[in-house]
Formats: sequence, structure tokens, C-alpha cells
Amino acid sequence: MFSSQAGGTGEEDKSATFTGWAAVPGGNGLLQKWSYHPRPLAAEEVEIEISHCGVCGSDIHFTTEGWGPITRPAIPGHEIVGLVVKRGEDATHQIGDRVGVGCLVACCRGPSVCDWCRKGDDQFCEKKTVTFNSPYKDGRGGISEGGFADRIRVYSDYAFKIPKEISSPDAASFFCAGITTYTPLKRYKAGPNTRLAVIGIGGLGHIALQWAAAMGCREIVAISGRDNKKEEAFKLGATKFINTSDKEQIKEAARSIDLCLCTNASRNNNWEEYLSMMAPLSQLVLLALPEEPITFVGSHLVSQDVAIVGSHLGSKGDIVEMLEFAAKHGVRPWIEKRPFEDCNEACNDVHAGKPRYRIVLEMKPSTSTSTSS
Ligand SMILES: [Zn+2]
Ligand SMILES: [Zn+2]
Repeated sequence: MFSSQAGGTGEEDKSATFTGWAAVPGGNGLLQKWSYHPRPLAAEEVEIEISHCGVCGSDIHFTTEGWGPITRPAIPGHEIVGLVVKRGEDATHQIGDRVGVGCLVACCRGPSVCDWCRKGDDQFCEKKTVTFNSPYKDGRGGISEGGFADRIRVYSDYAFKIPKEISSPDAASFFCAGITTYTPLKRYKAGPNTRLAVIGIGGLGHIALQWAAAMGCREIVAISGRDNKKEEAFKLGATKFINTSDKEQIKEAARSIDLCLCTNASRNNNWEEYLSMMAPLSQLVLLALPEEPITFVGSHLVSQDVAIVGSHLGSKGDIVEMLEFAAKHGVRPWIEKRPFEDCNEACNDVHAGKPRYRIVLEMKPSTSTSTSS
């Protein structure tokens, strides 16, 4: 199957063909091989030969249209690692640089940047282009395609050099799961005075526990509906485990959490119970986006002065800082590698919550994964 990236509305580079796994019209959520011509490489862009791409819950919400309709065909994937193989003349990277790409591929540029970009909070840019199925707003047309593919072209400020200490397969998960959990811990000043909790020990949660340990949080509470990840949670840095199916454990934890990251998007979340465990003047941060409305009675919220807040990715500066922090403190995702061809099975397993704890698709045969940096 073959059609143009731009849906006929943008310029195409007919000399280049990129191939990936896309949600196609009538594809029942199954990804199929699909090729497209990318946009012409701009002066500030780089072309990346992809070696690895993580599989995130968002990829599945997206391809199954749980978050709303998409323009098909559409290639998911936003935890991308590879080597720069082409560069525009103004790009900040050199050929051979090992880089990663996360959830954004462009923000506003030119002489009049928006207030968010000026403040260094580009994740809120009004002209941002997310990594897949997002129209470019740079006047060149086209729509973005993600990293379940052999190649991608992005503005070079959205390709981040990977520290030599971090291998390519390990690096992938930082670009969504890593930054999503790192940013709120930084914003709400997690540290030695913090009793931190993480709800959901999965792709995001298992990295959050490691960040919290590296930041020296006073108490690190892993919260899950089952005991099957208890032992691993302690290995990841937890100092305490709460199984929410045991109501006694919830009662004992009343008003004991200063900062809580909720990484669980399932409909089984009991918001009343979570709020009961929050200490006065605490923050409950939503990182995963449930497909259903969130409902709760307000009594704990008011009497304990709890703030329920969201957190969206991180800025370019946060990503650079996070990679350095991970390199220095030995924070690494726990991953299972699978060939790209098995992306449908990988998505099914992520949907079923099976991975321990992140699946990273690997391009075969021997795309370089060396640690040149
Ligand atoms: Zn993601
Ligand atoms: Zn902007």
C-alpha cells in the first residue's frame, strides 16, 4: 500500500520513500505496512534512520481512535531512536549522531515565536506538531508520521543527542515515559521531604519509581491493584507497597502522601480512595489520560486541600536535563525487545498490560546501535 504523506496538501520529496506500520482505512486497528514520500528536508531538519521505537499506551489509544478520529493511514510511534543520516545545512546535528525523538517534531519558529516557546515551555506551543498524525503549521503543509518506520525527518531541535552511557534500546522509553514522569517530579520539587506515590507500575510507573529513588524521596509508595509486581516495585526503588484491593491498606495510608503520580488510565481507578490517601496541601498529578470522565465526591479534596493537576510531557530543556540525570544516576527502563514486524502483537500486549515494563521495537537486521555519541 502506498500513498502520499501530505494527503495531497503538502510538498513531497519523491526521491525518498519511508516505510512503516500504519493504521490504515478499514484496518480494524491492525497496523499494516505502508510507504510514503516525506516532505522535502528543510535546512533545519535532519533525517534519522530509526533503530528503535518504544511502544506506548498512547499509540494504542491513538490507532484504535479511543481519543477520537484520526486521519488514516497513520504511523504511530513517539519513542524514537536512530542515527542522523541526512542533515539540512542549518541543522544542529551531524551525520552519524545518535539521537532520540519524543512526542513533538516541531513548534513555532521564525521571528515571532509564541509566549510558551519564548518561556521555554514549547510543549504548550500553539503551533506545535506532535509526532504522528498532526498537521505541520510551518507553511509547508503535510502531516506528521511516527516512528514505527525505517526513517523520519524532524526539525533538529526535536532530535536529542543521547548520552554515551545510555544504549539505544534503553534510550527509547525516555522520550515519552521518561519525560512524562520526570517533569512533574521536578516541577513539584520531589526530594528528601517528599512522601511520593506512584499509581500503576507499568511503562511510566516503573521509571517514576526509579526517578524518585534517585531524587532521594523520603518514602516511595508503589500503588497497584494486584500484588504481582510487588517484588519488582521494591527493586525499582519503592519503600512501601499498597495493594488497593485490600481496603485496610488504603485506610492505614490515610493522609500520608505528599505527591502522587497517577499513571493508570484504566476505568478501575477509584479516585475517592486515592484522595483519601493524600496529605493536606498535596498534589495528585494525572499523567495517563483515561478515555472516560473522572468522577469523585469532593470531601477529601476540600478537607485536605488537595490539588488535582495534569502534566503534559516536558520542554526541550527538560528532555536534555532528564537524559543527563538518567545517565548520571543509572536510571534505565526495563525493556523487552521485539522486531518491528511484531508491532501488532506488541501493541496487543501493551493494551493487555503484559510488558515488564516497556516494549521496544528493534529494526532488523543490523541498523547500528553503537554508542557513538
Ligand atoms: Zn507516549
Ligand atoms: Zn510556540
